[in-house]
Formats: sequence, C-alpha cells, structure tokens
Amino acid sequence: MDNPFAVFVPQSNVSLLEYNTFHVDAKAEWFASIDFEYQIPTMLDWVDEHDVDLHLIGGGSNILLTKDVSGLVVRIAIDGLECDVETFSDKVLLTAGAGIQWERVVECATSHGWWGIENLTLIPGVMGSAPVQNIGAYGVELADLFYSLRAWDRMRGEVVTLVKEDCRFGYRQSVFKEWPNRYIILSVSLLLKKEGSPRIGYGQIETKLRESRIDSPSPADIMNVIRSIREEKLPDTKRVGCAGSFFKNPVVSADFFNSLKRRFPEMPSYVIDENFIKIPAGWLIEQCGWKGFRKDNIGVWPHQALVIVNYGNATGKELLSLAHDIIDSVRTKFDVVLYPEVNIL
Ligand SMILES: Cc1cc2nc3c(=O)[nH]c(=O)nc-3n(C[C@H](O)[C@H](O)[C@H](O)COP(=O)(O)OP(=O)(O)OC[C@H]3O[C@@H](n4cnc5c(N)ncnc54)[C@H](O)[C@@H]3O)c2cc1C
Repeated sequence: MDNPFAVFVPQSNVSLLEYNTFHVDAKAEWFASIDFEYQIPTMLDWVDEHDVDLHLIGGGSNILLTKDVSGLVVRIAIDGLECDVETFSDKVLLTAGAGIQWERVVECATSHGWWGIENLTLIPGVMGSAPVQNIGAYGVELADLFYSLRAWDRMRGEVVTLVKEDCRFGYRQSVFKEWPNRYIILSVSLLLKKEGSPRIGYGQIETKLRESRIDSPSPADIMNVIRSIREEKLPDTKRVGCAGSFFKNPVVSADFFNSLKRRFPEMPSYVIDENFIKIPAGWLIEQCGWKGFRKDNIGVWPHQALVIVNYGNATGKELLSLAHDIIDSVRTKFDVVLYPEVNIL
C-alpha cells in the first residue's frame, strides 16, 4: 500500500516577515510547516528530489535574513508536552515537542514549583531551538537542566537520541552549530528538581526580590522578577524588531585581558578559568558610543547595547552593515573581535 503521508507540498515564494522577530521582509523560495514527526522523511525526499538546501526555523528569534532564502525553509511546529514525575524520586522529566514555545515550558515548570528553568524566562522561540545555541540567561544555561533530545539524523537517515555529552554544549555553542544541517530536533527532555534553591546572585535579581520583600522565593517568584528586569531592558519584539543579543561576549586570554585592563581599568569581566576571561560585549559596544544610536530604521537599543534593532522596514543588509560597523569600531578601540550570536542567513 502507498504511504498515506507520502505527499509533501510546500508553498512557493512565501514572505518570512511573520516568521522572524527582526521583522525583515525576505522571501523563502519554498516554505512549509512540519507538525508531525512522520512528515520528516517525506519532506527530506522532496529536498533530495528538488536538490535544494534545507533551512530550519522555529520562532525566528535568532536569525537575520540578509536576502531571500533559496531552497526550502521548514518551520518545525511539532507539539506535545509531557511531565514524568515518577522515574526519578527527586526530579521531574519534562519532555516537549520541538515546536512548543519555550515560555510555555517555563510556565508549566514554575506553576508546579519545579526548579531549574525559572532564570531562563522570557527567551523567545521554541523548544527545538533552545539546544542549538545552548540558551542562557541570569547565570543558567540550558545545559544545566538538559537531559536528552530526539532528532532526525540526516547522516544516518533515522531518529537518534542524544544525551548531554553528545550535544557538546558550550557558551552559545553545541554540536548543532558544529554540524548545522545534520540534525532536525524533534523533542527535548529536561530534568527539573522537585526541591531546589534559588540562583539569584546574577544581575539585579536579589535587589528586586528584596524590594518586593520576598525572603524565600519560589521558582515563580524568581521568574516574575526576571521578567520585570528583562521587560525594562529588552525591546518588545511585537513593536521593535530584534533578535536579542546580536553578539557573543568575547573570550580572551588572561594575558591579553591584563594588557587591556591596564589601558581601560574600568573594563568589567568574568573569569572563565585561569587562562581565559569573558568580557561583556555590551560594555565594549557602549564604550564605542553605539548605545542608543539610530539612523533611519536601524539602531542600537538605548537600554542594552548588545541589541541591534529594526525600528521599521529595515532590510537584513542594513542591519548586517550596522553589525559590521560595530565590529570594526570595537576592533579599532580594543583590538577585540566580536562574533555574532545571531544566525545570519
Ligand atoms: C528579545 C529577545 C531576547 C532574547 N534573549 C535571549 C537570552 O536571554 N538568551 C539566549 O540564549 N537567547 C536569547 N534570545 C535569542 C533566541 O530567543 C534564542 O536563541 C532562541 O532559542 C531561538 O529560538 P527560535 O525558535 O526563535 O529559533 P530560530 O531563530 O527559529 O532558529 C535558531 C537556530 O536554530 C535552528 N533550529 C530551529 N529549529 C530547529 C530544529 N527543530 N532542529 C535543529 N535546528 C533548529 C535554526 O536553523 C537556527 O539556526 C533572545 C531573542 C530575543 C528576540
């Protein structure tokens, strides 16, 4: 009998305006949404038959489209959210389909009082993209709570399970960035704690909790405080286009950092280990005078210099050219090279 799922019919010439938080109006040569795992082999057959490139997107909150995209853009929209409270006595295994909104997972966990994910609130996008850059915020990264994921491995032509070691997580880094076209993430499992302790030593969390007179915060309290901090600092992408932090924080050798520190004594830093130091890219950009910069529709967010914004109908090329200008000025002033955190298509 013929496979009833053997039909894959993408749309042609589709605007991606609604599918990226930078609000860039680029077009996809072909576009489709995948709602079920069983559609993947048929979709891949279509890609092979038409000999085109495949580009995966989730919520489009970490991409910059610099031109129309040739080939097939596939939005992974696989649903499903499951919580297993029995396998581990002190932990909960939470599994979500790749298309589930990340914030829905955060809300589900905090509403049950489970610990581990609360610091990662208000990061746009979907579950399937979270491992790609090992999302992180307020002293926590996905790797801290990651258990495993299921993905279609295009090299092996089958579904595989990857555990933490397989994912090779680093700072905004993973095996999915090393092998950009190999894996299609289908679902992700996180391990949350039934009892936990707050991680509030980062940014203004502690101060805000004190102001709200919260002595022993629950995961939901921490989530709410971080939400209010983030809302003050970051643009609302419904009104202003952006993809969050445009650049990674540069990591430099301790020797080089010491020479910089002699020239710029006020330069902030985080020690990674005895050999390497991380410098906040936002500070470097601010020192070059970019914070609050605006020219026509492009700019740098006045409350956070790491965020490049589209105030209107900017093109991806205009936004990228601003990013290059920022990179050049930081290199000239500090001799430090900034690399984008955003995926540039
Ligand atoms: C206002 C704002 C604030 C942000 N704050 C943070 C923050 O605090 N910390 C942080 O880490 N990030 C932050 N981001 C960046 C972004 O939200 C995250 O990187 C998020 O995980 C991207 O999810 P997405 O679904 O939108 O991914 P997309 O932009 O759609 O895709 C990102 C990458 O993942 C790949 N991908 C998507 N789906 C799959 C899949 N199923 N299988 C394999 N690969 C896939 C894509 O090909 C692409 O390379 C922020 C962005 C914005 C706009």
